Amino acid sequence: MARRKRTAVVGGGMAGCAAAKELLKNGREVVIYETTAGLGGRARSWHRPEIEPDVGVNLWFTSFYKIMFERIREYGLEDQLTEMSNNVIVVDNGKPAELLSDSMKSLFTFPHVKLGDRIGFLTATLKETLKRKELDLFDPLKLAKYDDGTNAAEYARKSMSQRGFDNLLRPEIESFWLWRCEDISAAHVRAMQAQIAGAKFYVFKGGMEIIAEKNAEGAEIRLENEVTDLQVSDGEVRVTARDADGTLSEEVFDDVVMATPAPVAAKLTAALPRQIVGEDTRDFLATQKYEPALSVSYLVDFSSMPSEAHIVAAGAEDPPVKTIITFPRQVRDANGRPVDKHLAFVYPGRAATRRLLKLSTEEQFAETTRLVTSLWPDFPADAEPFEIAERPWAMPVPEPGRYRKSARVIRLQHAPVVFAGDYFTSPISEAAMLSGIRAADKLLTVG
Ligand SMILES: Cc1cc2nc3c(=O)[nH]c(=O)nc-3n(C[C@H](O)[C@H](O)[C@H](O)COP(=O)(O)OP(=O)(O)OC[C@H]3O[C@@H](n4cnc5c(N)ncnc54)[C@H](O)[C@@H]3O)c2cc1C
Repeated sequence: MARRKRTAVVGGGMAGCAAAKELLKNGREVVIYETTAGLGGRARSWHRPEIEPDVGVNLWFTSFYKIMFERIREYGLEDQLTEMSNNVIVVDNGKPAELLSDSMKSLFTFPHVKLGDRIGFLTATLKETLKRKELDLFDPLKLAKYDDGTNAAEYARKSMSQRGFDNLLRPEIESFWLWRCEDISAAHVRAMQAQIAGAKFYVFKGGMEIIAEKNAEGAEIRLENEVTDLQVSDGEVRVTARDADGTLSEEVFDDVVMATPAPVAAKLTAALPRQIVGEDTRDFLATQKYEPALSVSYLVDFSSMPSEAHIVAAGAEDPPVKTIITFPRQVRDANGRPVDKHLAFVYPGRAATRRLLKLSTEEQFAETTRLVTSLWPDFPADAEPFEIAERPWAMPVPEPGRYRKSARVIRLQHAPVVFAGDYFTSPISEAAMLSGIRAADKLLTVG
């Protein structure tokens, strides 16, 4: 009987675990190496037993995610979903106004911009919605055609004034992804506009990592194992990893899916021969920029903040605080009785995030508590600092021209070393999974 091929997956995030599933389904043996203590990567939440549900940074997904919903059905996870309101509150100079993606009324009554901008926004959205199939937010092979070198701000100004852009489109994009519209491809914002009308928003009750964990079932999972070296010779891939005790081990595979963030993939494959990893791929990995993220969460009284809201800053400036997101949660009081609270996640602006990432947790809370009222003056003074999540490589930036490069690299990928990660498109778990499935398919086509 023929030996089953063995594949190493380096990185147990959404991309790596989606690749693992595809490989396992096709009869491969799979070993997943993951540096941290759990699967899910950036989509992994933190858990604290004092709150109900005990889940922290809980990623959203929408009704237009395709692979995600296929997996939810396959694994019978429908009861894990919680639908969230898409309540976006845009704050312009201290004045809040609601903007709901599924409500025409909220657009027409949106007070921050003139009627002409609202009509321009609506017309542009409708135009893009007609191209919904092609303007696929997750697929660089489709987006490449629309990636004409212009940035999102240039695109937006064709249909609205600067003020309209700064209050309508910019906050919708930048509050979710943290980069500047000036720095990203117009194709990204066009795809977002094409998909967003009427979309429903969900979170998993226990965190999105459940999908990564289910996808990885059947693989050998090596947690707290950081891959430190990769060698390819005589058709074999040699993987060296360091475990939590610092012990190095080496193992041989037929091939490998590199599913780490781009800088790690670039470093680990830098010494491989050019015929294994070509120049285009090297350049693609080495030039990927990232926006860092810091999520600072607080427990606040239920009545003190809007519920299930995305409170976002308008304007072109980099604000001290960019976004506040509130989720309802219950905590137990001293007598064990449940009390309704909000878990409020505060995301500082770009400059503030870079500064705060260098500080201690205590200092991060103190500084964020000081800054947060710049966006929401009524943020309760007695908010209870709860948890901080740091993501130095949070948001890969889809610069103008990036989707075209990405499509080229996807076509060039070949065994025995392939790459996967959200940086092939944008920071979206669905995009990460698509890249993982594609990378696995490249290995499977050679048998
Ligand atoms: C703050 C924030 C909010 C977000 N919100 C949403 C949202 O609401 N909805 C949504 O769909 N997406 C969201 N995203 C994006 C989503 O989290 C990512 O797109 C997705 O998780 C990326 O998956 P990945 O597998 O490509 O990379 P990662 O999740 O980064 O996975 C890579 C894995 O590789 C591991 N690794 C790194 N180096 C090594 C090594 N040497 N050896 C072994 N393992 C290694 C890492 O520990 C990690 O687990 C958000 C991202 C952030 C940062």
